[in-house]
Amino acid sequence: MSKLICKKCILDSDIPGITINEESGLCQFCESYTPLSSEEKKKYLGIIEDLFTEHSGKGEYDAIFALSGGKDSSYALYKLKKEYPFLNILAVQFDNAFISDTAIANAKKMCEIVGCDYFKLTMEEKRLCDTFRKAAESTNAYSKFARYRASDICNTCISIIKQKLIEQAIIHKTPFIIFAFTSGQAPNPIIDLQVNFIKWSRNIFEKQLQNFGVEDKDEIFLIKNEIIKSIDKNTTPIMLHPLCLWDYNEDDILKTLADLGWISPKISDSNSTNCLLNSFACHNHIKKYQIHPYAFDIAGLVRSGDMTQEEGLEKLNKELSKPLMEVAAKKLNMELE
Ligand SMILES: [Zn+2]
Ligand SMILES: [Zn+2]
Repeated sequence: MSKLICKKCILDSDIPGITINEESGLCQFCESYTPLSSEEKKKYLGIIEDLFTEHSGKGEYDAIFALSGGKDSSYALYKLKKEYPFLNILAVQFDNAFISDTAIANAKKMCEIVGCDYFKLTMEEKRLCDTFRKAAESTNAYSKFARYRASDICNTCISIIKQKLIEQAIIHKTPFIIFAFTSGQAPNPIIDLQVNFIKWSRNIFEKQLQNFGVEDKDEIFLIKNEIIKSIDKNTTPIMLHPLCLWDYNEDDILKTLADLGWISPKISDSNSTNCLLNSFACHNHIKKYQIHPYAFDIAGLVRSGDMTQEEGLEKLNKELSKPLMEVAAKKLNMELE
């Protein structure tokens, strides 16, 4: 059978697990898709505002913000401080040993512009590279579902960030953790992190690391058990994804950022403006699973109307940068196949 592309998004029948209904012309995700209405978005934003009013101004920081220095998180930080100037934010940038100098400069610049503290979370480079290499060499370390959302390398990277930001929030008794996920990446804008959920997320990541041969005995990547024990049940952090509630238009975002002095990265990788490992991670994932790790993310943006189908397909079919892949492979001590 020839390849069918969903009429609404960019998923196609060649992707394992995707079926296109020949009558409707839609993939199974578009068939059951119910977007957040503008009323629902308003309702969520109202809840977030109430939460901010109720819980801010009490501790050292009101929120820990995951700042990659890329366009989405840079914009989200700017918009957040514009909407809620009273928030006292600690922006954390994870140095995964592959972030670009531009991303670091952009992150620091955004913090200066909006007036918040900047913290660079660093880890031993060899340890990170060993871990990413093992993730790349593995198959099926993560669930089938996770495999659609991101590459094995990126899932590892994102899990480390989540673990360590939750840990920081517990240590500093910070009420909010904020990520700049788009509507394609985050199904739920408000997640109350109960103690059991935190434990579960730690244990599942420990298992996934073990699946590809990483024993994190000294809890460099995992939330330290000692710190989980110290959680006060009445003050567990809340995770927020406000970007999926705001209007999202890539061109407008880039324009706003350019006006602020954010430097557009010269990296020829249309899916990541900040991570030098991303092209290799995508290449590795496609080779293993025949799934483009950005397909679902892009499909989500197209489905919700935040990106045109044409733009989405163009992004998806853009060739990965060979020079970037070579540099990353070398650093990981792997052959580029
Ligand atoms: Zn679709
Ligand atoms: Zn990553």
